[in-house]
Amino acid sequence: MISSVKNKREDSSQSDLDPENWNDFREQAHRLLDACIDRLENAKDTPWQPVDEPARQALSPPLPKTPKDTSEIVDALVNDVMPYATGNTHPRFFGWVHGGGMASCLLAEMTASVMNSNCGGRNHGAIYVERCVLDWCKEIFNFPSDASGLLTVGTSQATVLALVAARSRVLGLDVRQKGIGNAPPLTVYCAQGTHSCVQKALQVIGHGSDILREVETHGISGGMNISVLRGHIEQDLAKGCVPLCIVATAGSVNTGAFDDLNAIADLCAEHNIWLHVDGAFGAWATLADAPWSGLTAGIERADSLAFDFHKWMSVQYDCGAILIRDSKLHYDSFSMRPSYLAKQKSGLGGGDLWFCDFGTDLSRGFRALKVWTALQEHGLDAFSKVITENCQHAAYMAELIGASEELTLATPAVSNVCTFYAAPEDMGKDEINAFNEGIVHQLQRDGHVVFSTTKIDGLTVIRAAIVNHRTRFEDIDFAINATIELINSEK
Ligand SMILES: *Cc1c(COP(=O)(O)O)cnc(C)c1O
Repeated sequence: MISSVKNKREDSSQSDLDPENWNDFREQAHRLLDACIDRLENAKDTPWQPVDEPARQALSPPLPKTPKDTSEIVDALVNDVMPYATGNTHPRFFGWVHGGGMASCLLAEMTASVMNSNCGGRNHGAIYVERCVLDWCKEIFNFPSDASGLLTVGTSQATVLALVAARSRVLGLDVRQKGIGNAPPLTVYCAQGTHSCVQKALQVIGHGSDILREVETHGISGGMNISVLRGHIEQDLAKGCVPLCIVATAGSVNTGAFDDLNAIADLCAEHNIWLHVDGAFGAWATLADAPWSGLTAGIERADSLAFDFHKWMSVQYDCGAILIRDSKLHYDSFSMRPSYLAKQKSGLGGGDLWFCDFGTDLSRGFRALKVWTALQEHGLDAFSKVITENCQHAAYMAELIGASEELTLATPAVSNVCTFYAAPEDMGKDEINAFNEGIVHQLQRDGHVVFSTTKIDGLTVIRAAIVNHRTRFEDIDFAINATIELINSEK
């Protein structure tokens, strides 16, 4: 009996890290929760703002040696930290590809924080929540129910995992022990302008980004030219190269272009090549109305599919995912159970699926709960509506730009991305590039709208990637009007 164990040590001090007074803590926590909800409710009034010098100082206190009151901490969170957010909760945030976040995720994150679950494995509720979310993903993307998956930091990490699984198929599993020293020359194919996470993944897993063949794009949807792709593959095969995979893009970061997934899947089937789809944001176009839903046709044929919840699905950062058709290969590529992690017959150490066997991370947070909560609170149809509307927003923006004298459309708005620029007549190319960059910066500083920039054919263009559930058509009007006004005042 436990009571028979004699306590030999005096417990004189309270040295744990829990609050000394739970009632005080409760009061402060309620105050913070109210401030959080206020901020979300008024998201349209809180655009990005620069982190000025006093704010930077407040964010960098000296190394703390002594405690502060919870009330002081809550003050700092509310006044010093919260106001200096990225700004992607604002309805006119169109920069990069940043999701807007949802109030429902606040509920999930509070709960997950309290549970403090480690989702690397073992037998507890969070594992079943993540399994449920992954099952939903398989259903949404028409993947077989025995496919495997994992929630990740984002698509970048998902891409590393997918390429490792593809490598297991091509080089065999003993690459895990032997390394890639004796590997034949490998090649990877992707569209020009494919996201840099593919290059990074190849660098990280040791093949180097030089094995990437960037295929020119064409047509209105901006996908890889399939006959050029075929030509590259056949030439490389004749030279003795071994294709590691084709990376198809569903929703390119620069322009929102889509590869023809069915045509690429046919080519992969013909040559027995692994098809990886980068669907970071664009995979979710599958939920949209026609014609946009058609852009993802064939996505269910991928061997691996990487996508994010934190972009177009509005789930709070961070949450991405990987689905892999061949679950055994996925498991065999990562599983490793030393004695201290051995599966137990019962108890907490049991459970028939440990997520640490499907990726590089052993300790993992409870990302799944945000997705699980938000999808149930809103229902999938609500996301379909947001995604459809965002595509309509981009088309509308392109229309306004087409009708304006000051702005020129750079690429067609295929999905939810619109790129454009101003080219005042008296300016040379370098001047135009600097001018457009300056416009974007000034609009951000004014709190009017956040666009970002990219390069298209050497030209700096203004880019809007609309994945924002708070955006309304009047925000598009406002954003384009503000841009035109600024151009006319700067010319
Ligand atoms: C954002 C993005 C990525 C990278 O995803 P992260 O979640 O930021 O790691 C990859 N591909 C595309 C097309 C993207 O838009």
